[in-house]
Amino acid sequence: MSEKTIFQKIVDREIPAPLVYEDDLVAAFNDITPQAPIHVLIVPKKVIPRVGEAEADDQATLGALLLAAGKIAEKLGVKDRDKGFRLVINHGKDGGETVPHLHVHLLAGRDLAWPPG
Ligand code: ADP
Repeated sequence: MSEKTIFQKIVDREIPAPLVYEDDLVAAFNDITPQAPIHVLIVPKKVIPRVGEAEADDQATLGALLLAAGKIAEKLGVKDRDKGFRLVINHGKDGGETVPHLHVHLLAGRDLAWPPG
């Protein structure tokens, strides 16, 4: 069995990190190196290494990640259209992935440039 990812250790409460949100399928916590005033990572409790490796059985978990994003945005006061937020999922080397445990970045609190780098 491969070693636990840093995110799995956070989900399992082996590494302390205050949870911004939690339900049966996902957990969310602040990014340690925030790229915006609000930078939350939303992760599935079940390890899926990256989004392209999700399977049909993961459909509920994938949906839970996006539903959690909306709830977190509301809780943090950025859900209204005049504020807003961005969700990012990095897959693989060119996508910029560094932690092999699927996570959705929720970024907000500043005017986010487009296209991303
Ligand atoms: P990137 O590092 O290019 O953003 P990922 O999409 O894989 O690649 O994102 C991993 C994210 O995990 C990074 O934003 C990084 O700051 C964050 N991170 C790494 N370790 C921790 C930790 N212990 N707690 C919270 N966030 C972490």
